[in-house]
Order: sequence, then C-alpha cells, then structure tokens
Amino acid sequence: AKKDGRNLVRFFNPAMQAQISARTALEADLHQALVRNEFVLHYQPQVDSAGQTLGMEALVRWQHPLRGLVAPMQFIPVAETSGLILPLGRWILDAACRQLVAWSQTPATAHWHLSVNVSARQFHQPDFVAQVEQALQQSGARTGLLKLELTESQLVDDVENVILKMQALKAMGVCMSLDDFGTGYSSLSILKRLPLDQLKIDQSFVREMLTSPKDTGIVRAIINVGQSVGLQVIAEGVETEDQRAALIALGCTHFQGYLFGKPQAL
Ligand code: C2E
Ligand code: CA
Ligand code: CA
Ligand code: CA
Repeated sequence: AKKDGRNLVRFFNPAMQAQISARTALEADLHQALVRNEFVLHYQPQVDSAGQTLGMEALVRWQHPLRGLVAPMQFIPVAETSGLILPLGRWILDAACRQLVAWSQTPATAHWHLSVNVSARQFHQPDFVAQVEQALQQSGARTGLLKLELTESQLVDDVENVILKMQALKAMGVCMSLDDFGTGYSSLSILKRLPLDQLKIDQSFVREMLTSPKDTGIVRAIINVGQSVGLQVIAEGVETEDQRAALIALGCTHFQGYLFGKPQAL
C-alpha cells in the first residue's frame, strides 16, 4: 500500500489516526508515570536442582491508577521508541540495587543475586557502564550479586564495542546473562566471544519440549553447547514437574518458572 499513490489516503484514515493519538497519549502517560513513581518491580525466583532459591529476576510493571497493573509488553516497546526507557531503565537499576541491599540485611536472603533486564537502547548508551557503577555505589549493593540480562539481538551490532562494555562490567564484578537464547539470529561465535556467565533457554522451547522432539533436541543442544563453553544454563518458563524432570535429565542445573513461583511484589 505504501507504494500505491492512490492509497496514500490510508495513512490518514481514522483508525490510524486513533492509533497515533493513543500512542501519543501513552507516551505522555508513561512520562507522568515516571514523575509519579508508578512503576514497580516484581520478583520471580531462580532455583537450583534441589529447589533452593539462588536469586530473583526483576520484572517491571506499571501500577496505573485506573488501568491497574500493566504488563511490560504493553509499555516497554513504546518506552524504547520514545526514549523513555532511558530514565525508566535507570530507575529499574536503582530500584534493583536498593532491593539487593534490603536482602543483604537478612541472612536467609543475603546471598541472593538479582537479574535485571536491560533494553538494547539503554545498553547502547555511551555511559551505560557508568550508570551501573553509580547505581551500585549509591546503593552500596554488592557488585557480584547484580546480573544483567541481555538478548542476542542487542549484542550482534557493533560486537567490538559490546565486548568492551561487557568486559568493563565484568571487571566491576557484574554478571552477564544471555536471555531468550535461540530465538534471535543466534550465532555460536557470540558465545565464544562475549564474556558471559549464563545462558537462558527461552521459554518457547521449554513449553514444547515434552511434546515436540525438535524442541527436546534444541533444549539438549543449548544445554550442551552452553555447558561446553563454561556457562551456567538456566531454563525459563518451567511450569510443570515433568518439565523440570526432563530438564534435569538433560543436565540443566538452574530453573525459573511458575512451578517455583510467579513474579510477585515484595
Ligand atoms: P523476559 O525477560 O523473557 O521475561 C520472562 C517473562 O516470562 C516474564 O513476563 C515472566 O513473568 C514470564 N514467565 C515467567 N515464568 C513463566 C512461566 O512459567 N510460564 C509463562 N508462560 N511465563 C512465565 P513479563 O513479566 O510479562 O515480561 C515480559 C518481557 O518484558 C520480559 O521478557 C522482558 O523482555 C520485558 N521486561 C520485563 N521487565 C523488564 C525490565 O525491567 N526492563 C526491560 N528492559 N524489559 C523488561
Ligand atoms: Ca529476562
Ligand atoms: Ca527470557
Ligand atoms: Ca522473552
């Protein structure tokens, strides 16, 4: 339709106009949400094969005064294109570090790590490493307990620069996890070149692994390749005891999913 001059009118039809206004309204709302401090972090446990909690993943939600709790997929994409992800990402890092400090006060939770999702746009900021350093210093959180979750797609561009950034973060003691592994344009050379600590098997493979031999094979291959290059492998989206057992049989050591706990406010 874009090439068809006669259809140019499509760009101004009422439905699209409404969509654009809705988006503009959402952007304005998101900005207000930051000012009003309406974002909250929920936490989901990550466990070992004995079921012990080793840490949590922080997952952001928007506590909207009228709409209730809004899921990240409803606002993260807009926050990314509008640039609001930058102040929001900073807030998430700060809140995460404060939570680490809170856990450090209690012996039962003092060793928990916290995994934080980092958007591509935030990671590619020239001062991203300094942002992380500042969040850690201002909170007093232990560096070794912060883990950053990055996705493949955000690491393939400008690999040299990505490696330098990750090395700087590693030097500070921050851990690095590759999220949603297997769903992007995965390249094994990325596993070889990037200073990663952990590989996350995407939940789409875990969901099908008991019913689809292909997915079982992919899960087995990810576990093997990850462990072969010295990475910890964690499966996400584990919902049933059967999935857990199958993952353990394949040598998986770390787990996350509704079986162990849903993301929850603290
Ligand atoms: P993700 O990082 O891959 O997070 C995993 C998603 O799977 C989460 O959805 C989580 O609630 C959900 N989940 C966990 N266990 C299970 C399970 O057993 N079964 C099923 N079906 N789902 C499970 P959520 O919280 O809606 O987050 C969706 C996505 O939004 C995240 O995917 C991540 O890409 C993004 N996101 C969430 N929080 C943040 C954040 O703080 N910063 C950034 N940049 N992105 C975030
Ligand atoms: Ca994640
Ligand atoms: Ca994931
Ligand atoms: Ca995902």
